[in-house]
Amino acid sequence: MRDPLLLTPGPATTDIAVKAAMLRDWGSWDDDFRAVTADIRRRLLAILGPAGRDFACVPMQGSGSFVVEAMLGTLVPADGKALVLMNGAYGQRIARTLRVMGRAPVVLDTGDYLPPTPEQVDALLHEDAAITHVVVVHCETSSGILNPVEAIAEVVARHGRRLLVDAMSSFGALDLDPGRIRYDAVVASANKCLEGVPGFGWALVRRDALEQGAGNAHSLSLDLFDQWRHMEATGQWRFTPPTHVVVALAAALDAYEAEGGLTGRGARYEANRAALVEAMAAIGIRPFLEADVMSPIIVTFRCPKDPAFDFPTFYQAVKRRGFMLYPGKLTEAETFRVGCIGQVTPADMRAAVAAMADACAEMGVHLP
Ligand SMILES: *Cc1c(COP(=O)(O)O)cnc(C)c1O
Repeated sequence: MRDPLLLTPGPATTDIAVKAAMLRDWGSWDDDFRAVTADIRRRLLAILGPAGRDFACVPMQGSGSFVVEAMLGTLVPADGKALVLMNGAYGQRIARTLRVMGRAPVVLDTGDYLPPTPEQVDALLHEDAAITHVVVVHCETSSGILNPVEAIAEVVARHGRRLLVDAMSSFGALDLDPGRIRYDAVVASANKCLEGVPGFGWALVRRDALEQGAGNAHSLSLDLFDQWRHMEATGQWRFTPPTHVVVALAAALDAYEAEGGLTGRGARYEANRAALVEAMAAIGIRPFLEADVMSPIIVTFRCPKDPAFDFPTFYQAVKRRGFMLYPGKLTEAETFRVGCIGQVTPADMRAAVAAMADACAEMGVHLP
């Protein structure tokens, strides 16, 4: 039997070509590997479109949170002040990261299911002239909510402040054209919408902002400026790169470009989400969020109300049928999540819903 499909927000199911790319060993100092690094940096920047020419791509070892921390530490100076727009676990992590590095943030917390509004951000920036940066999560993966980055960017620019975007779970599938949306930096990682494997992330940073970040970082290994300068000078990563993961991303980018890049990948995820929500509605399981803020990345569903429903049992029953779901991450409602990203199709989503219906029947859960 094949491995279960990962219906999670990453690591996601990868293509066989991505796995196969990891079967060779590479010298991190060698010209061939340097060429791979230069190639992925160029292709990641190209995803931003022509306005990406003002940006630099700085890869960073570690999971996505490492590059978020590197962005905050390098771009928010010690005497700066960040406003964090929070509506889930990843916004909370950003606020906590800033506190740990001694750069206490101001927080706008809109709870689990509401996006921050441009009016709220406008009022806070009006009130507090000391705020230098605003940090927003594009798709808050804990619920799948899509935050209005474009409208927020407009307000932040009007106030002459700087915007930092955590687009970890949306980069490559949802548009963040800096020609339209003004921001200083966006971060993402290899194992989400680009369908690589976990091990590194990258920051795409406006070159002038990166230069101004010299000497800001609270950490040597998470210093984006230092990593950038070293990479520009030598073509190498400062410290040991995850060689196999980098080569796997190059293969993942081949598949991405062949699928039509941002447009093609975004359209497949939209189709996955539509197939999922429609098939779930047919078995009486409803999404937690309103349709207008629901992303095509991951969907949160309300657990069936039947007392016979138990998520761990349901999870195992669905896994035996070939699909791995994701637990909910909300405090106020019983939910679970289904990811739409990775090498999966609308047909896979419909098969997953059939497996969920089967699992409910096996558990004696009555669906309306
Ligand atoms: C995945 C993700 C991260 C990074 O999480 P890691 O577990 O460190 O890879 C950060 N922000 C968002 C919105 C994410 O979805």
